[in-house]
Amino acid sequence: THPLPRPDRRRIMTVANQKGGVGKTTSTVNLAAALAVQGLKVLVVDLDPQGNASTALGVNHNSGVPSVYELLLGRVGVAEVAATSTQSERLACVPATIDLAGAEVELVTMVAREARLRQALNPEVLDELDYDYVLIDCPPSLGLLTVNALVAAHEVVIPIQCEYYALEGLGQLLKNIELVQAHLNPNLGISTVLLTMYDGRTKLAEQVTEEVRGYFGDRALRTVIPRSVKISEAPGYGQTILSYDPGSRGSMSYLDAAREIAERGTERETA
Ligand code: ADP
Ligand code: MG
Repeated sequence: THPLPRPDRRRIMTVANQKGGVGKTTSTVNLAAALAVQGLKVLVVDLDPQGNASTALGVNHNSGVPSVYELLLGRVGVAEVAATSTQSERLACVPATIDLAGAEVELVTMVAREARLRQALNPEVLDELDYDYVLIDCPPSLGLLTVNALVAAHEVVIPIQCEYYALEGLGQLLKNIELVQAHLNPNLGISTVLLTMYDGRTKLAEQVTEEVRGYFGDRALRTVIPRSVKISEAPGYGQTILSYDPGSRGSMSYLDAAREIAERGTERETA
């Protein structure tokens, strides 16, 4: 493998889908690791109170640890809360602790409540830390945390699980993205759609793929992520699939997906 190109400017990507269990967290951490092992510097922001991304990246997220919660409140800066992952020196994570569970409610009464994360991701600090990519892992809802993620980002990445009704739940997400574009972040665009848990033996997977490509066109990556037990086991060991089983199909698929994202750059950002 040859190193991936660095983007012209830092790419901030929000991984969103209000449906739980579609592969948001799995895709966030494995894409981040895949970008990092291929030479890029990556920050993951865990914005789900469950803290699953933090777990997978081997970053402490016990209650009380400085986390994305303090970052949203403006009590700490990103440099102080970003912890280097066990997966790669080039990969860091702002952990989410259970304290974030209350944030959705607390944010409601705050000044600039939708733009707290954008403010916290201070471009000068990110420049100094030299991140090429920032990947934000969203909770399975469309509340203020997800809105913060959409306001802070340039691009949305939508993971879609290959199952019946895969597109059905997306309407509300697409509407929210439009609202954020119209009122809070005109630069936001859906750049990437990633099919996850693909089972090539089933006719269903093929149908969903066709449907998704019909709707999203070439924003859907050519690479699909196979259903693989190894992928689901890795976080239990504080690992990504890239370190847990480097030669596996799951690992190769995330490496390929990361390469596609990096090589096609940002031209599809606002398509
Ligand atoms: P979300 O963040 O959208 O809620 P997760 O990434 O946590 O979804 O994935 C939901 C569940 O599916 C987890 O148990 C995860 O380990 C499993 N999973 C995700 N991707 C795959 C895959 N490609 N193959 C098998 N299991 C997967
Ligand atoms: Mg998740």
